[in-house]
Parts: sequence; structure tokens; C-alpha cells
Amino acid sequence: MMPGIATQQLLDGAYITAAVLFILSLRWLSSPVTARRGVLAGEIGAALAVGATLLNPELVQYKWIIVALIIGAGIGIPLGMVHMTAVPQRTALSHAFGAMSAAMIGIAEYYVGIPNISRFGMGEIALEVIIGSLTFTGSVIAAGKLQEVLPQRPITYKGQNVVSLSVLGAAILLAVALVFNPNQPYLFPAMVVVALIFGVLLVTPIGGADMPTVISLLNSYAGFSAALLGFVLNSKVLVIAGALDGSSGFILSVIMCKAMNRSFTNVMFGAFGQVQVSAKGATEERTVRSASPEEAAGILSAASKVVIVPGYGMAVAQAQHKVRELFDLLTKRGIDVKFGIHPVAGRMPGHMNVLLAEADIPYDKLVEMDDINSDMGQTDVALIIGANDVTNPAARTDQSSPIFGMPILDVDKAHTVMVIKRSMNPGFAGIDNPLYYLDRTLMLFGDAKAFVGDIVRELSGSGH
Ligand code: NAP
Repeated sequence: MMPGIATQQLLDGAYITAAVLFILSLRWLSSPVTARRGVLAGEIGAALAVGATLLNPELVQYKWIIVALIIGAGIGIPLGMVHMTAVPQRTALSHAFGAMSAAMIGIAEYYVGIPNISRFGMGEIALEVIIGSLTFTGSVIAAGKLQEVLPQRPITYKGQNVVSLSVLGAAILLAVALVFNPNQPYLFPAMVVVALIFGVLLVTPIGGADMPTVISLLNSYAGFSAALLGFVLNSKVLVIAGALDGSSGFILSVIMCKAMNRSFTNVMFGAFGQVQVSAKGATEERTVRSASPEEAAGILSAASKVVIVPGYGMAVAQAQHKVRELFDLLTKRGIDVKFGIHPVAGRMPGHMNVLLAEADIPYDKLVEMDDINSDMGQTDVALIIGANDVTNPAARTDQSSPIFGMPILDVDKAHTVMVIKRSMNPGFAGIDNPLYYLDRTLMLFGDAKAFVGDIVRELSGSGH
């Protein structure tokens, strides 16, 4: 049944409100101060869009929708409960599901529409199904790499770019052939299969270290495929939501590439993470100085300016609440404590901001890399908690290093550097860190939460 004018106006109103909420959500998500409001706005927007669609009188029966809702909730609820360090792979799976649903609706539209599909309509469906299908398989491979069920290293072979581009070319050729002959029965399934294969070929050669950037790019593809689906289904809210998703994912990928000083082509074709052996060999014999929690507490209490640099290890150890206690104790003693935030510290953009906000550390104490670096020369102690690559001076000096050119936090310019980590093992990029061998560096070996807890005990006078 077609909706009456009043119902249609109500539905349109709900869709417009949802679109406005999506835009506000993205705006608010860009600062930790307003991020919670942003999440809520996004949730209300999504609920409004889904609710309005379900209330549309054109819907004839709810049976299959209820079945799909139960299956979706059955998968989505446990996915939402994963540990925070697993959020990148969880996000990759969400993109995979989003892209799969866009591709499947496109496939359904094709089979429902033939033999009456216009050339323009066929072009829309073909493009949408190609992007949806390659995003689906690409995202599944990305999630597998991040979860380490697939090898993290880049899997490459000779002539690989030629093979991958030929497969993409074949998918596009099949789409063009379909536009001229939509009713040819074999072209459409062949195009879907070729696009699925291209998704695998696209992501397999990319190393684990680049996966978060790739996921952000796949997020952007999933968004664009949803926007195209909006054109196919004549749904304005889907066009808007898809375009917002697509463009914000793309902007995020650009920001991440900049933070790592990498170009898109380097991420997609550079096979980052392969060259690790030579860097290790050169430093095997070098010695480091280590210190106890008691010594660390003594050095910190004698300082007047401290910069704390958190990284992935703080997230793994869930040390943020202990770090908050340390921050409180030092601040009470009149010590100026700030946090140096690298844009790609951790395993996802904003990872450190989220953890520190969770521990109620004031937002104005979180200082972006470029701003804190100018202060580093006047800093008494740089305390690194489970960070590694984002502090590696080889990025500035060693042209042979795989992270050469990546902007880093200049902690080596501080008067004393203290590094909390469990061992001399490398970080995500798999390379040694010359920072640890400097005269002014003290290694504080141990789990981040336990070690910070010990320093806190020493400082609060109960360590003896
Ligand atoms: P990192 O280089 O991966 O180093 C983390 C360090 O934490 C490790 O060296 C590890 O040393 C230590 N660690 C692990 N568990 C610990 C625990 N329980 N207690 C104490 N220390 C622990 O991390 P990062 O400096 O944050 O750099 C992030 C890396 O991810 C960069 O290479 C970046 O390019 C990459 N990346 C991030 C993003 C993003 O969006 N954030 C995106 C793309 C790539 P031990 O094993 O010795 O303890």
C-alpha cells in the first residue's frame, strides 16, 4: 500500500531528522569532550531511520524482517562485547556485513528487476554490487589478519599488481557488458565472483601494520556502496548516510596516512612490514639500563615537568586507571604533567584518547604530537607507558627503517626517558628502537598496570 500524504510527510520528517543527527554525530565525534553525545546522536539517528522504514505502509509483511533482526542481533550483541584491543577486527567485520548486505540487496534488485532494467539502472546496480562484493571479501581478510587467524605479513608474488588490476579490469568489463545487455544470464554472477576475488587480492598483499588504514578505506568503500544502493532503491536517507560514511572513512584514511608519513599507493602496494631482519641484527649486542619502581618514583618526584606517552601496551594492560592515580599524585606535588598523544598510538585512531577519557583524565592535559614536541626539550621526564614505534627516533634518522619519515613524539629530547614495557620485544612495525640504548634512557621492565601501580605505591609512601 502506498503511504498517504500525511504518512509520507511523517516518514520524510523522520528521515531528515535522522540525516541531521548523523551529521551532528560526526561533528561531535571529532572531540573527546562531545564524543559521547556524538555516539548517542548516531544511535538515535539510526533508530529513527530503521523505525521509519519499518513503519512504511509499503512493507507488506514482517516475518522475514523479524527473522533477520534475530539473526543480526545474535551476531551483533556478542560482537559488541569484544575487548577494546579487538575493536579494529570487529570494525572490519562490521564493514564486511554492511558491504555484504549492500551487495545482496543489489543482487536482489537485479533479479527482481530483469528484464525491465534500464541501462542507467544496470550501471548503478553493477557499480554498487562490485564495490559491495570487493569490500566484503577485503574486510573479511583484513579482520582475519588482525585476529591473526591469517598471516599478518604481506603476501606478495611477482607480477601481483598486474594480476590484481587485470581482475578489477575484468569486473569492470563485465559491468560494461551488462549495461549493454542486462538480460545475459551469465554476466551478472560472473561479475559478482570476479569482484569477490578482487577483494581478496586487494588486501592479501598488505601487511598487518597497515590494516587499520585499510579498514578505514574499506569503511569508505562500504559507505559509498550504501550511497549507490540509496540511488538504486530511491532512498534519500541511505544516500546521505552512505555518503557521510564514505567520505568520513576516506578523510580518516588520509589522516592516518599523513600520521605515518605514507602515501595511499605506499599503503596499498608498499608491502610494509616485510623488512625487519637487518634492523634487529645490528643491535643485538647493545646494553640497556634498567630501574626499579622505587628509582622511577624518586626521579618522577624530583621532576617539575613530566610528559606521559601512552601506547598500545597501556591498552593491553588496561593501565589507564593506575595512570590516572599516578597523574593525581604527581599533580598534587605541583608537578606539571601532560600526555603526549600520537595520532596512531595504539591500534585505532583515538585509541589513547578513549582510554584516558575513560579514566577521567582532564581533556586539556592531552596534547597532540605537534604541540607537545615543541615542549620536549624543556621536559624533565618523558614516561613512556607501553608505546614503542611512535617514539622510535629511527623514523627521523634511519633511511633504511620501514618507519622512516613517520612523524614521532620526540621523547629522546627530554632530560630523562623512562620506558615501561615487559621486554625488549619490538612493537607493531617489528623493528628495534634505538631510544632504549641512549644514556638518558631507563628501562622499567614489567607489565604497565603492575609497574605504574608499584610507582604509585612508592609515591604514596606505602612502598616500604
Ligand atoms: P607499539 O609500537 O605496537 O608498541 C607497543 C609496546 O607495548 C610493545 O613494544 C610491547 O612491548 C608493549 N606492551 C605490550 N603489552 C604490554 C603490557 N601488558 N605492559 C607493558 N607494555 C606492553 O605501539 P605504539 O607505540 O602505540 O604504536 C602503534 C603502532 O600501531 C604503530 O606502528 C602504528 O603505525 C601502528 N598503527 C596504529 C594505528 C592506529 O590507528 N592507532 C593505525 C595503523 C597502524 P613488550 O612486548 O616488551 O611489553
